[in-house]
Amino acid sequence: MEENKNKLEQNNNANGNAQGGGRRKRRRHKGGNGGNGGNHAQNAQTQTQQNTQPQQNKNQHQNGKKGQNAQNAQKQQNQQSQQNQLKQKQGGNGGNNPQNQQQNQNKQKNKQQNQQNQQNQQQNKNQNQNKNQNSGKNEKKEENRKDTYVYTLDGNLYINLTNKCSNGCDFCVRNERSSYYGNYLWLRNGDPTVDKVIAAAKGFGDLTRFKEVVFCGFGEPTYKVAEMVALCDYFHEKGLKTRLNTNGQGNLINKRDIVPDLKDKIDFVNISLNASCVEKYQPICRSQFGESGFSGLIEFAKLCRKNEIACRFSIVDCIGEEEVEACKRLADSVRIPLYVRKYIIDS
Ligand code: SF4
Repeated sequence: MEENKNKLEQNNNANGNAQGGGRRKRRRHKGGNGGNGGNHAQNAQTQTQQNTQPQQNKNQHQNGKKGQNAQNAQKQQNQQSQQNQLKQKQGGNGGNNPQNQQQNQNKQKNKQQNQQNQQNQQQNKNQNQNKNQNSGKNEKKEENRKDTYVYTLDGNLYINLTNKCSNGCDFCVRNERSSYYGNYLWLRNGDPTVDKVIAAAKGFGDLTRFKEVVFCGFGEPTYKVAEMVALCDYFHEKGLKTRLNTNGQGNLINKRDIVPDLKDKIDFVNISLNASCVEKYQPICRSQFGESGFSGLIEFAKLCRKNEIACRFSIVDCIGEEEVEACKRLADSVRIPLYVRKYIIDS
């Protein structure tokens, strides 16, 4: 589904951050060279100490007792210093020292801050894991609801066949919602059988009042091509037209050309184009097939045309005028009509 494109800008920002990371890396590299310079300086200092050592020995010999006294004084100073350090460690007098108290408070603050940071990191990790995987399981108030296999919208009957999808689109409505226009589309009890869908459709009474049947839910319908084809037969018998809303990756998903299966079953195919080229498509749609996802959808459209199945590409107008024009050129080049639809803010 191509709805809800409002995260495109966020994605651009994300790219910007990634570039910033590259620059930071280079700076760290520079720091490594500085480290070598430090080693050279240390070696030079050692050489100077060796050169002055004979003169120091001579002086000590000449000064005799004077030197010994100085050494004793130094020893006493060292012992005193060690005792003070020990006291501070044991929290003796050091604990009463205002400077040490301040240090201890700072340590405590840092510890609390670290704990808070760890908690925040864990929360962010959980949120990222949930992205595109929001199964709606936390919607306690909806615990007892039935799975929605069939729903109505704009005078059409919609079929929700699966929650599987080969994309992880930034703008997918299911990233942030459990429902679409009030219809809860996460399937908690697995994908429905053909019979279950027909039973659900019958619940809507006279089906002839609907304009068409649309295969479109919280997932990519071509994962269920056999069920879809069987349902097309059922709905055609009822006199309804059928439409498939797809990301165009059905052949990649099924590892075979499924377009002939759709011939005379699906009356119209709507393929979400989303972008004018793979470089723009993959960062926002994240096909599990990588760059083949975009070329696969173009190929799918061409095969629909070849098999004389009516089809079109669709995009949402919020992608910007330049990108809309680029999409038009692409669609023209493969002789597939392009539908530019308005961005829907609320669903
Ligand atoms: S292709 Fe998949 S992830 Fe993308 S909008 Fe459609 S259902 Fe959502």
